[in-house]
Amino acid sequence: MALKKCRECKQQVSNNALSCPHCGYRKVKHEGPLGWFVGLTSGGRILVLSLVAIFFIVGQFVPDEIGAFTGSQQFVEEQLGANGEVRFCTYSDAEVQDLGDGRFRVTAYFEKDDLPGSEKRTEYVCVLSKNESGAWSVEELDM
Ligand SMILES: [Zn+2]
Repeated sequence: MALKKCRECKQQVSNNALSCPHCGYRKVKHEGPLGWFVGLTSGGRILVLSLVAIFFIVGQFVPDEIGAFTGSQQFVEEQLGANGEVRFCTYSDAEVQDLGDGRFRVTAYFEKDDLPGSEKRTEYVCVLSKNESGAWSVEELDM
């Protein structure tokens, strides 16, 4: 008789047992679109719910300053094209200024490895504005 670990309490349970004799966890197949979720252990369910909640909260409340910084990186990358490895400075190295009316000025830099030492770092200033649907568009880009 083969033994395996119970998914819920981690104790040894017979492979043939329909439910765990220690904690009562039932080895059943769950059908339907949420079957995978019902089949999870209680810890797994809490983890999934937490991730969904965090994803939702973060998506809702990304501060505009961080959104502008991320947006400016995308515009700079578009300007540079796909050539070369570009490393952007971190958010704490950038300066993001709220200009009001959903407009932000981002002063930051990026580094390109294929340029010689002193030219490696390129500073840029990007003015972005956010529309009602939350999308960023660039008004000005100097680099
Ligand atoms: Zn068990």
